[in-house]
Amino acid sequence: MKKTAKISVIILAAIMVLCTGCTAEKELPKVSEVGFYLDTVITLTAYTDEPQVLKDGLEECGRLEKLLSRTAEGSDIWRINHANGETVEVSDETAEVLRCALEIGERSGGAFDVTIAPASVQWDFKSETPALPDADKLAEAADLVDYSKVEMEGNNVRLPAGMMIDLGGIAKGYIADKVKGLLESRGVKHAILSFGGNIVAIGVKPDGSVWKVGIQDIDKPTGTHMLVAKNTGGSTVTSGTYERGFEKDGVWYHHILSPHTGWPVQNELASVTIFSESSMYGDALSTAAFVLGPEEGMKLIESMDGVEAVFITRDRRVTYSSGAEAYMIR
Ligand code: ADP
Ligand code: MG
Repeated sequence: MKKTAKISVIILAAIMVLCTGCTAEKELPKVSEVGFYLDTVITLTAYTDEPQVLKDGLEECGRLEKLLSRTAEGSDIWRINHANGETVEVSDETAEVLRCALEIGERSGGAFDVTIAPASVQWDFKSETPALPDADKLAEAADLVDYSKVEMEGNNVRLPAGMMIDLGGIAKGYIADKVKGLLESRGVKHAILSFGGNIVAIGVKPDGSVWKVGIQDIDKPTGTHMLVAKNTGGSTVTSGTYERGFEKDGVWYHHILSPHTGWPVQNELASVTIFSESSMYGDALSTAAFVLGPEEGMKLIESMDGVEAVFITRDRRVTYSSGAEAYMIR
């Protein structure tokens, strides 16, 4: 073979190797794992040839749930709630969630209150025969709700005796962020992770198209969308009255509670969707904005950098924060 022919063969071989390299990412298989943590079906979907990362992602959910759960005996939150006013040292993870919860508590003027537990434990939204709590007992419980009484110094947390913490409005977002971080650290470039109302994405789809996230139709069965949003690697969180609740005597009782009364928040809103980078903030803000209602809730969102929102009222009116239209697919 002539020298030039030889070089051509080598160049051709090199091009072929390079091209296999370029197309390899596109051909990654789509894999999913489903688990049940935090009372929620969790579905992790990624394009990867290392499906073990998804199993590890679910394991991470279990590990974090053991720290953050109010009910799991021995969890950080359980220890704070059972410390009778003594100081408790918690993990870095728990401290991080608590700091964010207290920050949003402050920014929302107490609409988001991480010490909601004395009130929230009196509600059972999953029961086959749901009942209303005793009104006097609920009023007493609401008197114990006050995030500003949580003392935190580094990882040391102190809660006055009788008070209790419930991370139900923020933990899923935090865990979603952590699982995303784990997958990214293992090289995953395209993934969509669903934690009930919290959706987080890594990148876009391998073909370059965006992930589509449906925003639930407030009056239709689960899975029917009223709007469709795009997600290009951030977080989409929705808090809605339809998620957990029951009807009694024509009133719909749901799981987003007024920290002042302990009763479900009754305002014009039916759902709040938050677009943000952090799902932990998105989660806390969706609950906070819901409690604040359409006007004050939107003011809170507009005061936050990099956070946008879509509010849906019970009479199906849709309002957008100043930059939210960019997230919508028409
Ligand atoms: P989910 O995603 O489970 O629907 P949300 O993010 O909408 O939850 O938050 C509701 C949960 O947050 C409740 O189940 C309860 O644990 C807790 N919660 C309810 N009201 C408040 C409140 N005003 N502030 C903070 N947490 C709350
Ligand atoms: Mg929330």
